[in-house]
Amino acid sequence: MIFCDLHKQYEAYQSEIDAAMQRVIRSASFINGEEIRLLEEELAAYAGIRNAICCSSGTDALLLPMMAWGIGPGDEVICPAYSYIASASMVSLLKAKPVFADVLPADFNIDVSKVEEKITPRTRGIIAVSLFGQCAGYNELNALSRKYGLWVMEDGAQSFGAGYFGKRSGSLATAGTTSFFPAKPLGCYGDGGALFTADDGLASILRMLRGHGQGKRYYHKYIGINGRIDTLQAAILRVKLKYFDRELKVRQQAARLYTELLEGVVRTPRIADGKTSTWAQYTILTPRRDALRSALQAQNIPTAIHYPLPLPRQEAFADAVVPGEQFPVADELSRTALSLPMHGFITEEEVRQVAGAIKRARSQEPGSN
Ligand SMILES: *Cc1c(COP(=O)(O)O)cnc(C)c1O
Repeated sequence: MIFCDLHKQYEAYQSEIDAAMQRVIRSASFINGEEIRLLEEELAAYAGIRNAICCSSGTDALLLPMMAWGIGPGDEVICPAYSYIASASMVSLLKAKPVFADVLPADFNIDVSKVEEKITPRTRGIIAVSLFGQCAGYNELNALSRKYGLWVMEDGAQSFGAGYFGKRSGSLATAGTTSFFPAKPLGCYGDGGALFTADDGLASILRMLRGHGQGKRYYHKYIGINGRIDTLQAAILRVKLKYFDRELKVRQQAARLYTELLEGVVRTPRIADGKTSTWAQYTILTPRRDALRSALQAQNIPTAIHYPLPLPRQEAFADAVVPGEQFPVADELSRTALSLPMHGFITEEEVRQVAGAIKRARSQEPGSN
C-alpha cells in the first residue's frame, strides 16, 4: 500500500498532463508564462477571493507577506506550537521572534483562548495553520486582530479547498497561503505555492517581491527574492485543479469510513460544524502509537507521524522559547498522533484493510480485552 499514491493520479490524467507539459516546452515560456496568470485566475475564483499570487513554495508564501509588512528585529508573531517548521521559521528568518501558543486537542489548531495572553506591544501578527486540512478559528482570530491592530495569516499549505462557514481556505484572513508540494491535496510535480489576499495593494507588492522587487524589467522598487513558480508547474496544476473536487470527495468518503470503522478503537479526528476538511491527513490519536505503527508496517501498511517534535521543542527555536514554558497539548499530540494512508485515489477496500489491521493490532496488545 502507498501512503499518498501519486502514480494512480498521474495515470488518471496522463494524456492531459503530458499535453500540458508539451505545450509549455514548445512555447519555451518557462518563466512567467501565460499558464501562471490563468492558474492565478482559477485559484482566486476557487478560493473566492480577489487575488491569487503563485510563488515558489508554501514556505515562500509565508515569507513574502511578512517581507511586505516589514517584519524584522524586535517584532513578535504568534504561531501554533504544533505544525510543520515553516509555519514559524520564516518569522525567525526575518530576525523576528515566533511566540508559540498551544493548540486544541479537538482539531490540532491554535487555541485562540491562549493567543490573547501572548499579545504584547511588540506583537505584529498571528499565523494560524489549518492543520491536516481543517481551518482554524479565523472568525475569533480576526476579532482579536481588529481589537489589537494585528494581521492574521492563514498557513493553508494543507487546506486549499477546505470550507469555513460558507467561505473557503485562503479567503479567511489578511493573507492566506497554500503549498503545491507533491503530497499536498493539490500538488504539482516539484515545489510551488500560492498566496491569497483581498487587498489589491498588498497583492501588487507581493507580485513584485516574488520577482526581486521588480516593477518594470530591471527597475527594482523593493528588495525581493526569486520566488516565482515555474510555468510547467502551473500547467500541471491547471489540469489537476479540474479534477480536484472529485479527489476531495474521495478523501471525504475515505475519512468517513475510517471514522465509522475506528470509532471506539482509537481517537478519530472530528470536523466542527460549519467546516469541511481536505483531509490532507487522516490522523488518529492513540497511546502506544509507536508499537501500532510497527505492527502496521509489518503488514506493509505505511503510516506517518505528523509531527514527532512540537515547534517550541525544536533546537532551531531554542532562542525563541522561555525556558520551562509548557505546551501540554502539543507534547501529547506529538506522542500519540498517527496519520493513516490517504489520497484522492484511495479505495474503500484499502481503508477497510488499514482499519482491520489497526483493530487486530489493538486486540493483541497486552492488557486489551
Ligand atoms: C508543507 C507545509 C508548508 C511548507 O510548504 P512547502 O511548499 O513545502 O514549502 C508550510 N506549512 C505547513 C503546515 C505545511 O504542511
